[in-house]
Amino acid sequence: MRRAMYRKLHSRAGGVSPFELVLIIGIVLMLAVFGVIIYQYHALQVAHGNDTLAVNTAESVAKTNSLNGISCPVNDCPGGDCPHHFLNRYVGYYDYTSHKIVARPTGTYNQSKNPEALDKTYKGEAQTMLLRVVTENGTIKIDWITPDEVK
Ligand SMILES: [Zn+2]
Repeated sequence: MRRAMYRKLHSRAGGVSPFELVLIIGIVLMLAVFGVIIYQYHALQVAHGNDTLAVNTAESVAKTNSLNGISCPVNDCPGGDCPHHFLNRYVGYYDYTSHKIVARPTGTYNQSKNPEALDKTYKGEAQTMLLRVVTENGTIKIDWITPDEVK
C-alpha cells in the first residue's frame, strides 16, 4: 500500500501533465514576446541617441569651424566669399563618417524615424535624411533634410 502510493507520487513528480506543458509553453512564449519588446525598445533608444549625438557633433564642429556662426562651417574653408556663401549665410552638410562639415552631402544616416534636431522634429523614414548646417551672423542652424532639399 505504502509502496504503491510512493510510486504514484514519484511518477507524478517525474512526468509533466499536458496542462503543465501548456502552461510552460505559454510562459516561454510570453517571455519571448517580452524579450522582443524590450529589445526593440532598446534599439529605438539607441537609434534616437545616435541621431542626437550626430546633431550635437555637427553643432560643435560647426561652432569651431565658423567661429560661433560668424564664418563658414565647412571644414578647411577660409570663409569670406567662399563657394558655400549664399546671400548672407553659409551652408554645409554634416558627414556622418568623417565627423566633418562638407560642401556636398555624402549620404543619408538618420537611424530613427522622424529625427529631432534642436527641439524640432523632422518627418522622414530612417536612413533617408542628413544634417544641413547653416551659419548666419553668429547663429548656427541645424536641420534634418532629405537629399532632394539640397540646392
Ligand atoms: Zn565655405
